[in-house]
Amino acid sequence: MRLTMRPAGRNQVVSTFPRRSVVLSFMTNRDQPVFSLKGVTKSFGGHIAINDISLSIGDGETVVLIGPSGCGKSTLLRSFNGLILPDCGVVRFDGEIVSAETSESMRRRMGYVIQDGGLFPHLTAYENVALMARHCGRGANEIRDRVGALSELTRLEVGTLDRYPVEMSGGQRQRVSLMRALMLDPEVLLLDEPLGSLDPLIRADLQSDLKRIFDSLKKTLVLVTHDMSEAVFFADRIVLMREGRIVQADEPINLLRRPAEPFVTKFVQAQRQAVDVMRGLEA
Ligand code: ADP
Ligand code: MG
Repeated sequence: MRLTMRPAGRNQVVSTFPRRSVVLSFMTNRDQPVFSLKGVTKSFGGHIAINDISLSIGDGETVVLIGPSGCGKSTLLRSFNGLILPDCGVVRFDGEIVSAETSESMRRRMGYVIQDGGLFPHLTAYENVALMARHCGRGANEIRDRVGALSELTRLEVGTLDRYPVEMSGGQRQRVSLMRALMLDPEVLLLDEPLGSLDPLIRADLQSDLKRIFDSLKKTLVLVTHDMSEAVFFADRIVLMREGRIVQADEPINLLRRPAEPFVTKFVQAQRQAVDVMRGLEA
C-alpha cells in the first residue's frame, strides 16, 4: 500500500488543499487509478509518436495534455480508449488492460469528443446524440428524456436538435458532440482539442460552459489543448509533452514555480497570458 494524494472522487472523504479538494487515501486494488499507463510506446512507420509513457489518472481528476503540435497528445489520448493500441507497454482502465478484445466495451464507458465534433453529417443533432443509446437498446422515452436533460446541461439552443451538422455553428456542433459523448453517462470524458476550431469569443463562451458542466458532473477528464491558459483554466494536473515524452506532469502552478527543465519555462513563457492566469492562482 502507498499513500497517495489525488482529487476527490466518488464516495470519498475530502480534506481541504490550497486550491481545491483532495483526498488522502490508501491505494488498494479496489481503489485504483482510473487510467494507469506503464512504458507505453507507439510508432507509426518508424516514427515514434509516444515514447515510454507512464502515467496514472485518479478518479474525478481533470488532466490536461499539452505540448507542441505533433508531440503525441492525440496518440496518447487515443491509447486511453484503445483507438490506438501500443507497440510496447500497458494501458489499464479501471484495472483492466485496454486491448483489441476489451476496448470496444470500454469505449461505452468513455465519452470522446474531437476537434470538429466528428458528428455524422447525414444525421440530425438528435439522431447523432441518440445513436449509441438506440444501438444499446434503450427505449425511445428514456432517450428523449436524456437528450432533453443534456440539451439543458449544454445550453443548446432550442431547435438545434432537428438540424444537420452543416446547418449548425461550430459552437453548436461542439455542444452536440459533448451531448453525444455524455449520452451513455460515461465514467470518463476524453476531449481532443474540443475548442480548437472555434473563434475566440465562441471559444471563451464554451470554455466557461464546459467548466461549469465538468464541475457539476465530477467525472474523470482528460483534455488535450495546445493553449496554456485553457490548460490552466481546466486542469488539476497538466501533462506537458515534447517529442513523444512527458516533460512534466504537475499542478499548473508548479510549471511556473518548479519547471522540470528549461523547455517548460520556454513553453509557458511563449504563452504569456497563461502566466497572468497562474499569478491569479497565487493571489
Ligand atoms: P499531437 O496531437 O500532439 O499534434 P499526434 O499524436 O497527432 O500529435 O501525432 C504524433 C506524431 O505521430 C506525429 O508525428 C504524427 O504525424 C504521427 N502520427 C499520428 N497518428 C498517425 C497515424 N495514424 N499514422 C501515421 N503517423 C501518425
Ligand atoms: Mg492532436
